[in-house]
Amino acid sequence: MRPTGSSHLGHLVGAYRNWVAMQDEFDAFYSIVDWHALTTDYRDTSALRRNTLDIAADWLAVGLDPTRCTLFVQSQVPEHAELHLLLSMVVPLGWLERVPTYKDLLRELRERDLHTYGFLGYPVLQAADILIYDAAVVPVGEDQSPHIELTREIARRFNGIFGRVLSEPAVRLTASPRLPGTDGRKMSKSFGNTIGLAEDEKTVRSKLRTMKTDPARKRLKDPGDPAKCPVFDLHRIFSDEETRQWAAAGCRSAGIGCIQCKNALADHLVGEIGPIAERRREYEKRPDDVRDVLDAGRKVAAEAASATMERVRAAVRLPGAGALGDAPALRSATPATG
Ligand code: SF4
Repeated sequence: MRPTGSSHLGHLVGAYRNWVAMQDEFDAFYSIVDWHALTTDYRDTSALRRNTLDIAADWLAVGLDPTRCTLFVQSQVPEHAELHLLLSMVVPLGWLERVPTYKDLLRELRERDLHTYGFLGYPVLQAADILIYDAAVVPVGEDQSPHIELTREIARRFNGIFGRVLSEPAVRLTASPRLPGTDGRKMSKSFGNTIGLAEDEKTVRSKLRTMKTDPARKRLKDPGDPAKCPVFDLHRIFSDEETRQWAAAGCRSAGIGCIQCKNALADHLVGEIGPIAERRREYEKRPDDVRDVLDAGRKVAAEAASATMERVRAAVRLPGAGALGDAPALRSATPATG
């Protein structure tokens, strides 16, 4: 995950719930990919370290447990950059130019200078992030699965040239239910419509009160349609079955008001994110503990990454960290002719 600011409900539903479950099923590695943040925001790096710590505190608060998974920062394991470099030698330009998100982002982020070597190559860096841990499975949303397919293609091409040295990862699709923001559009920091995981109860309730509803319900006596209401989309994710049925029936019959409906949602939402926010506040008081977790994670990640790089260097016939001890004898000098 890129360190681009604090986490919100979208992260919880689209990633964290799944990651927390996976930490018991797999030998899981979760990385804050700060180099990736530079591929789109290289001019102003003033918030990079702060954002990195923020994300790490969010992860701990949602339940990622450093005794059951590895949490680390990408740039603290420089082997990622080395593998990225070697992969970049074999990746045809056309593969990168065809990546769907490449053209989309160029269009969407016009105000930024994305015509850089780093931005075009970010899928190769992403491939290195995955392949360096011999990842068997990568949890992603559907929109990211082409990147994993590209990672598999890159591994195959590299193996085709240098021998079977990299493992191809499989995709684990994460269900990502539609998660609307307070204005009804997709929840996203760039729309300013998020509900943050670290926000206090008062803020969460007040954001929900202003949230868009089915426009047909102008007055209390107008019946509504839950299928057209972003508040109901949140009920689907955070409320229990009984509350959902009550809200749906009350909406259709105009038996309840939107404020009542939102209050019921707020109770469930606060029930889930309240303890997260509480734990988050605890970590804010102990930033050194967060740093220690990342430092311990760095050591575990570096060990795994360095074992892979030993194999890769040997396959490419690079000398690696040691001397050129096993290099063949020097060619004998031949007298100049002609
Ligand atoms: Fe939406 Fe609930 Fe109002 Fe119906 S009653 S429009 S589901 S907020």
